[in-house]
Formats: sequence, structure tokens, C-alpha cells
Amino acid sequence: MDAHPLTRLPFSSPVTPGTGWPGDPATTATPAAANSEAVHALATSSPDLPTLDARVSVCRACPRLVAWREQVATERRASFADQPYWGRAAPSFGDEHPRVLIVGLAPAAHGANRTGRVFTGDRSGDWLFAALYRAGYANQPTSTHAGDGLALTGVRIVPAVHCAPPDNKPTPAERSACAPWLDRELELTVGGLRSIMALGSIAWDATLAAARRLGWTVPRPKPRFGHGAEADLGADSATIRLIGSYHVSQQNTFTGKLTEAMLDDVMARL
Ligand code: SF4
Repeated sequence: MDAHPLTRLPFSSPVTPGTGWPGDPATTATPAAANSEAVHALATSSPDLPTLDARVSVCRACPRLVAWREQVATERRASFADQPYWGRAAPSFGDEHPRVLIVGLAPAAHGANRTGRVFTGDRSGDWLFAALYRAGYANQPTSTHAGDGLALTGVRIVPAVHCAPPDNKPTPAERSACAPWLDRELELTVGGLRSIMALGSIAWDATLAAARRLGWTVPRPKPRFGHGAEADLGADSATIRLIGSYHVSQQNTFTGKLTEAMLDDVMARL
């Protein structure tokens, strides 16, 4: 057991559900999906976002990803060796009544897989939350640990895949297994939704696929991903604008492929 960096309470790595980790949505009674059929059943029967978050956070449907996230949580990076690692699926985070969804790829091994909150504790998150703060969606520009006081207004961040994958590359089968969680996110938020920002082409494709499964109108031919690309998705209740952005990965931000100005421009159109 090691102490959480903020609360100083002791936790195992991976964190046992319901033991007091800041923001842990699950309890010991939360049902855990053991395969893709169970993901579908538990996602479609989730009546609200807190239930969905709790069920996501204990999901064990992808054997390779479960093994990887727990191995990383056990071995840990030397610079974080004194911290407990979340080591579970990272649920979505943000406003329960969002106008905007931000769809990302998957948790980082030593970011969300360590802190238990998406884009928290890594360089990608530094970029994303600073931009959300500049745009007025976040109450602070930094995101270091679950429990650090960060709150989003009007925005919810949703990974296309909720578990950290080796080399940041989930397999097609893993993306497919995790898709029902995304479908349910869209169903539960569509009433107030205005736009969706897709961070990278995998998030773009996952969002379009989810929209089709839900029976939304999707333009044909399939809209192509690009930074600043747009597509209008026709849900029953409204038209929702899908906007693409290069991912806030270090690969893009270090090389200047994605600049702060480019990210701010896309945020301003949400
Ligand atoms: S990637 Fe998704 S479906 Fe697979 S174990 Fe994680 S939460 Fe479950």
C-alpha cells in the first residue's frame, strides 16, 4: 500500500473499488463486465452517467488490456514509484449535462492509468486542460491528481477506449468491445449536446461509428478527419457538429503539428 499524493490515504495498486480514491465512482457492489456481451448489457442498462462511470471503472472485458494496465500499475515508473496506481479503466470525466463532448483515444499508462482521471498527470492533459481553461470550460488550468479540485462546466471528456493499451494502440477487437460504453454516453447526453470534438482520427472514426449505430444521420461519403474538419450529425432531437482536432499527444505538441492557437481555434467553434 502507498499513499495517495493528495489525500495521503493508503491504496493498493490497482485500486480496489470503493476504498476512497478521489472520484472513484464504483463500490464493491458495482457489476464488472467480463466480456464484450456483458459490456453491451451493462452499458445499455445504465440509467445515468454516474452508473455508467462506475461500471466502466471496474470493466474487465479485454484480457490483454486488463493484464497491461495492472502490470503497469504494479511495476510503475521510477519517478512515480512511491505512488499508488489506479490500474483500472478510466471513466469519462466532466459535466453531467454537457453541451460539448471531447472524445479522446485511451488513457496513458502513467497518466490516467496512474491517477484514475482522464488526461490527468501527463503532458497531453497539461495541453488539453490549459486550453479548456482558456476557453472557459475548466475552473483551473492544471490537472495533476484526482481530487485536485478540477471541475469542468459544459464539457465532458470521453475516451473511445477506457483502458491504457500497450504502445497506445488498442486492437480493433478492443475498440469494438469498448464501443457500447461510448454509445451509451451519447444516448445519455444527446439531449443537451451541441458539438463533439474528436481528438485524432481514431476518436473521429469511433464517434462516426457510434452515431451510425444509434441511427443518427451521418453524411456520405464518410467525412474525412483533419484538424478543423467538420461534419453535421443528425440525432433525433438536434444536429450535432462533429469537429476534428489533432490529438494533444506530445508527438503533435512537441513537433509543432498542433499549436496552442490551433487548439484554441477549434475550441472556439465548439
Ligand atoms: S477497454 Fe473498455 S471494454 Fe475493454 S476492459 Fe477496458 S473498459 Fe472494458
